[in-house]
Amino acid sequence: MTDCLFCKMVSGDIAPDTVYEDDDILAFRDINPQAPTHILLIPKRHIASLNEMSTEDVILIGKLSLTAKALAEQEGIAEPGYRTVMNCNAEAGQTVFHIHMHLLGGRPMGWPPG
Ligand code: 5GP
Ligand code: ZN
Repeated sequence: MTDCLFCKMVSGDIAPDTVYEDDDILAFRDINPQAPTHILLIPKRHIASLNEMSTEDVILIGKLSLTAKALAEQEGIAEPGYRTVMNCNAEAGQTVFHIHMHLLGGRPMGWPPG
């Protein structure tokens, strides 16, 4: 998708602060961090939102979670705790329509979320 911000990061047109990359996943620091650690994990393949996910994406979504776990360990937030979030559509606050998992940690988190 040529007009998608996160696809431009995958293609290299925009260079994010990358913390992890493999054949399927790119992870980079959020430009407007909401916690001391705030990383976005995206599939390299464009999927607009959770509503567009299908059974063929099961391994991909699992890889996102496992990569978030590994990055949490790398960031030193695994033991104190962290949160993963995937916002879907407007009412949940999704602003970039290329699926992404937020990895947040480094401070106490409230519940329920805002
Ligand atoms: P959403 O609100 O869709 O769940 O999350 C989108 C996230 O993308 C936000 O946390 C926002 O700060 C982040 N973001 C938006 N534009 C950029 C950018 O150009 N670079 C980076 N690294 N993050 C961005
Ligand atoms: Zn995209």
